[in-house]
Amino acid sequence: MKRLFSSLKIGNLELKNRIVLLSMQLGYAEGGFATDAFIRFYEERARGGVGLLIAGGAHIHPHGTGGVNFLAIDDDKFIPDLKKLTEAIRSAGSKSCLQLLHSGRYAFSILTGEQPVSASEVQSPLSGDVPRALTVQEIKGMVTLFSDGARRAKEAGFDAVEICGSTGYLVSQFLSSFTNRRTDEYGGSLENRTRFAKEIVRSVKQALGEDYPVVFRLSFDDYVEGGTGLDETRPIARALEEAGVDLLDMQVGWHEAKVPTSAMLVPRAAFTYLARAIRKEVSIPVIVTNRINDPLLAEELLQDGTADLIGMARALIADPELPNKAMTGRLDEIAPCIACNQGCMDGVFMGRPVSCLVNPAAGREADFEINPAKEPKKVTIIGAGPGGMESARVLAIRGHEVTLVEKEKDLGGQLNLCGIAEDRGEFKSYLRYLIHEVNRLDIRVVAGTEATEHTVIDSRPDVVIIATGARQYLPDIPGIEKPHVYTAAKVLQREADLWGKVVIIGGGHIGCEVALYVAQRGAMPSDVARFLVRHGALPHEDALAYMRQTRPVTIIEQRKKVAAYYGRTSRFGILQGLRTHGVTVMTKTNCLEIGDGVVVVETEEGQSTLEADTVVITSGYVEENALYEQLKGKVPELHIIGDARKLKSCQQAILEAAKLAREI
Ligand code: SF4
Repeated sequence: MKRLFSSLKIGNLELKNRIVLLSMQLGYAEGGFATDAFIRFYEERARGGVGLLIAGGAHIHPHGTGGVNFLAIDDDKFIPDLKKLTEAIRSAGSKSCLQLLHSGRYAFSILTGEQPVSASEVQSPLSGDVPRALTVQEIKGMVTLFSDGARRAKEAGFDAVEICGSTGYLVSQFLSSFTNRRTDEYGGSLENRTRFAKEIVRSVKQALGEDYPVVFRLSFDDYVEGGTGLDETRPIARALEEAGVDLLDMQVGWHEAKVPTSAMLVPRAAFTYLARAIRKEVSIPVIVTNRINDPLLAEELLQDGTADLIGMARALIADPELPNKAMTGRLDEIAPCIACNQGCMDGVFMGRPVSCLVNPAAGREADFEINPAKEPKKVTIIGAGPGGMESARVLAIRGHEVTLVEKEKDLGGQLNLCGIAEDRGEFKSYLRYLIHEVNRLDIRVVAGTEATEHTVIDSRPDVVIIATGARQYLPDIPGIEKPHVYTAAKVLQREADLWGKVVIIGGGHIGCEVALYVAQRGAMPSDVARFLVRHGALPHEDALAYMRQTRPVTIIEQRKKVAAYYGRTSRFGILQGLRTHGVTVMTKTNCLEIGDGVVVVETEEGQSTLEADTVVITSGYVEENALYEQLKGKVPELHIIGDARKLKSCQQAILEAAKLAREI
């Protein structure tokens, strides 16, 4: 990885490698301050080998904040704690940058107590607020607020500042003709719409000196109808370089964009074409971003001339040590970000601090160190789902002698059922990582063997952890015993005869995964479509139509919405997938009976029948805890975790396992 680990100069700032931790909102900055948790989060990533860490966005005015416990730089009182942050990053051998942010119309009046401001009065779809258009005098004042923020950042020891001109925040609201309807010198022509951004850059340069690096985060495409696309981004990028920007940081899609940019269904490196296009326009370096979670891919992008630097955010939440592991050839040891968004983006949108499904230590760095065990013990874990494997991993690192018992021949539990649908494949990368860790750490694995009370007691463990998960039970529906009725597991293990019209009973996350998988089986796989188009066998439009072709699938859900437990960004992607593949969704619907070729359902309108050649039951799970009850009082130390204790999300199960493994 010669290029990824080569140095680069941005103005007079020398970076040791090409990996940039992008700005992200963590929700750790209580009252806007860089708290201990905030500092530890960045310190850990600096120690992990990141070249440049961009903290923030830090709001330059309280009314410009975007959410709960977001960082602030609107007052000198924030400088001392930020100093501790920059010192921690510097002593770990990395460079620091602070992003300066004003959310504009993306601010929430419910949080700030004030009507948001923007270029023009265009309603925010996030809050429903209609902003007030800034006066020319206020725009000048806003420019000063940015340079005041930059001055504080420099005083706090940051090596650079970044102006947030992306994602639909204030500066991008001026750049886009969708949100900028002004008729004065800040609206209308592209030159006028770029004026605000250029004035901010000039004013920061004047305040801090021409050699102080200024990074600009720019949406290379808004993916908003009537917004800024590549055709306008090209001249904007050139204008920003002329104004003094030293580094362009790519971003794609506003928060209101209809194109998914971060969900699991987005292919890795999907938006790199934008970076390639902009890099040709400017002579300053460019950061490429979005769904780049693999150092090998990062190296290839640099080799291909796509960009000068690789921006990562979630990949470094998932594994702070990614750079060091990549540099020392330990690629299989990298915990991969699976783009689930469950702990990070969905958490922040709900006002919760950032956490991570695959890295329970994210945001808990101070309390979640893995220390050697005081007294190594013989620990037996029953169940090799994600919780069981994570606890095995931590216990083995701590020096315990660990045995992992799994009744199936494959490790992974429910992870084997996730990721079968075409757009959900990242779950498999997490499973590969866990299996690699189990092998690397010499954990004894007994697979394909059902643990019993006697086998466990006879093996004389000091500690037993029951991580047996949940089992599906069949609800009491007449006809459920018929041969064309299958469980979700049978479908996902490819043991079902999926014939004709398929009705799925239950629209939770497993029901939606099954629906996507079944629906996609009626469509042309994307690699086949690409092959046929490339060789002239099919026109593009026909290939797209074949890819969208589907087989008839209907989800029946009792509640008023499907995929109810997904977070905002993940649910958006799942629903879009269901729509793309033409899955019919019936909510507030009960299944009364399963007949031959039909199901009888009841909705608010009354009873009706649906054609159903195959029926899949995805509802009804219950804790699998029988062995725990049998072992009570018969082994020296007994624990039960995850779904076996109480049904919960995969992330909660992994966190519970990680905590327990640190305590034994
Ligand atoms: Fe990645 Fe999911 Fe962790 Fe977010 S929660 S960093 S998307 S693995």
